[in-house]
Amino acid sequence: MNSSYFMNLEEKYGAHNYKPIPVVIERGERVWVWDVEGNRYLDMLSAYSALNHGHRHPKILKVLKDQLEKLTLTSRAFYNDLLGKFEQRLAEFAGYDKVLPMNTGAEAVESALKIARKWAYYKRGITMNQGNIIVVEGNFHGRTITIVSFSTEDQYKDGFGPFTPGFKVAPFGDARVIRDLIDDKTLGILVEPIQGEGGVRVPPEGYLKDLRAISSEHKILLMFDEIQTGLGRTGKMFAWQWEDAKPDVLILGKALGGGVYPVSAVLANDEIMDVLKPGDHGSTFGGNPLAAAVGIAAIDVLVEEKLDQRAKELGEYFLRQLRDIKSDYVKDVRGKGLLIGVEIKKEYGTARPFCEKLAKLGILCKETHDQVARFAPPLVIKKEEIDWALERIYKVLTEP
Ligand code: PLP
Repeated sequence: MNSSYFMNLEEKYGAHNYKPIPVVIERGERVWVWDVEGNRYLDMLSAYSALNHGHRHPKILKVLKDQLEKLTLTSRAFYNDLLGKFEQRLAEFAGYDKVLPMNTGAEAVESALKIARKWAYYKRGITMNQGNIIVVEGNFHGRTITIVSFSTEDQYKDGFGPFTPGFKVAPFGDARVIRDLIDDKTLGILVEPIQGEGGVRVPPEGYLKDLRAISSEHKILLMFDEIQTGLGRTGKMFAWQWEDAKPDVLILGKALGGGVYPVSAVLANDEIMDVLKPGDHGSTFGGNPLAAAVGIAAIDVLVEEKLDQRAKELGEYFLRQLRDIKSDYVKDVRGKGLLIGVEIKKEYGTARPFCEKLAKLGILCKETHDQVARFAPPLVIKKEEIDWALERIYKVLTEP
């Protein structure tokens, strides 16, 4: 059965909420994937940064398989012998007192918003149910109704109202406006340290540090959504480390699942996390033993293989080489670590045809926000493989 067969199945039986690049992947190993026709591709999207460890990392697979043989799901009605270990590993690794385990990114963001609100009313004395949180134009934090309520992308909201109140939107990358938006009901700020889906938008230097200072000054919670930027992607374990701007609430997902399982988490210190009492919040699958085992292995591999360091060195190299390509099509090349965006000038259409051409040459990437081709390969990529990609990217960006 060929690619068309599988694409037609999805077309007929699946909801049409995606428009994939027409490649049907059957197998993956490290940075490579193969389609059903046997063609090989270099994965430069990494499932939107969920595959920082690469496809089917042997150590993570082993832990997953061993755990499958023992215990997979208990729910939180009971304890299991792995959740506490995972919480300890993650809390110590990221430098927080406590962890709230969830599954997907959007869930973790929702959970963080709930914790922040509760903290504001019970600890900070903001009038009950009146608080607001400041977010930033171009944000992407997931797809739930509350999260799309503060999206600035029309399509993400179209037809999904009524929306959740309690959010104020600041322009991208301007800490002064955020300061001006704070009022006596403001309880926190939620941002991505680098906007991924928004088009790999890197804020000006000093921005994260300024947000840290503003939050401390006004006694509000700084929340960083590091679902895409965290766990080594930008060349540090966490993007906040670039500016020593540790948030009060850190949100992780994607690569926390080691590329094999959905694992997300909210991290905070006791003073904040302890607002949650039994029954306040929960998830049937959040913190299950399989997720916990995989989460520990995912952190171990990041540390053992120094994937943050790899991302830094190879990212600098990749970015430099991309910037050196003289192309009429390119408006901007930007990023940090191995999270890189190539913005195509509007007069040449969107980035989509460039991504489709790259797929034909064996490179998988995906356009975001129409104009930007995002390159975010697994952090286990080798320099030779980046060079292999660069040859092809050069071709697509320089040919008529
Ligand atoms: N937050 C950020 C920064 C993301 O990039 C994403 C996904 O792309 C999400 C949240 C949502 O994660 P999920 O798709 O797992 O719900």
